[in-house]
Amino acid sequence: MAEAAAVLLRDVTLRDGLQDEDPIPTEQKLVIFEALVAAGVRELELTSFVRPDRVPALADAEAMCAATVGHDIVRWGLVLNQQGASRALDAGLTHLQFVISVSDTHSRENAGRTTADAVEALAEVCQLACPEAQVEVTFATTFGCPYEHRVDPDRVVDLATLAVTAGVSGVNLADTIGTAIPSEVKSLVIRVASEVTPQVGIHLHDTRGLGVANALAALEGGARRLDAAVGGLGGCPFAPGASGNVALEDLAHACEEAGLDTGLSVPAVITAAETACGSVGRTVASHVGVAGPRFTL
Ligand code: ZN
Repeated sequence: MAEAAAVLLRDVTLRDGLQDEDPIPTEQKLVIFEALVAAGVRELELTSFVRPDRVPALADAEAMCAATVGHDIVRWGLVLNQQGASRALDAGLTHLQFVISVSDTHSRENAGRTTADAVEALAEVCQLACPEAQVEVTFATTFGCPYEHRVDPDRVVDLATLAVTAGVSGVNLADTIGTAIPSEVKSLVIRVASEVTPQVGIHLHDTRGLGVANALAALEGGARRLDAAVGGLGGCPFAPGASGNVALEDLAHACEEAGLDTGLSVPAVITAAETACGSVGRTVASHVGVAGPRFTL
């Protein structure tokens, strides 16, 4: 039998999943980390190097890096500027993720700077970090913005081109508010992969129930990596189960059942989801977390 095609799922629980929650102790995050590793996770977002007063849940960034050295796992740290990049590099990370909002209004509301200023800051971070470390760009509001609503795909392609010129190793397209539909996802992934770089990842939120469908569409379009958080954690903390990231167990289950090798154990991902959700006082509300895999024998 031919070997199953592989797909890389990156877990974002410890960063995106926890950033809006009440802070939990570093030790508890390490329990989640171990559960993710045990489930077969090979790449994950570990933390953010942002101002601790802005994101208190991730104030232990350096401690998390120090405590997770030595695992055979790719650890990503989110940075927004040179200062954050210096901290991440000093903490020993070699994979930095830089966020730019495609929507100028979202950029100003969320990061206090224009999209153009963010592109400039990205170039500075690449100069500082590369080639010793990789810098990837995540484009927030790629498929829709809470302020500007529809986002022009041409703008995404133009920004991705600027980011690759600045030196990024890849482009991550983020559906920040969960407005994408599969046909849009597939066509934009195809465009960015063919016009800018084949290193395209996708970051989806399941706000309108299209997270898994969008992920499968992204794979059809040639996406190399999918982001997800166990239990669907993340997003708006005031709408549990509705607005979080697409759940890793839902995505792993769909991919495995479609014959793709994720390297993950779906039952172990569900266990990790229970651990992570329990840590922040939530119950697992993902589809597969509730119903279990479709066939168990
Ligand atoms: Zn997210």
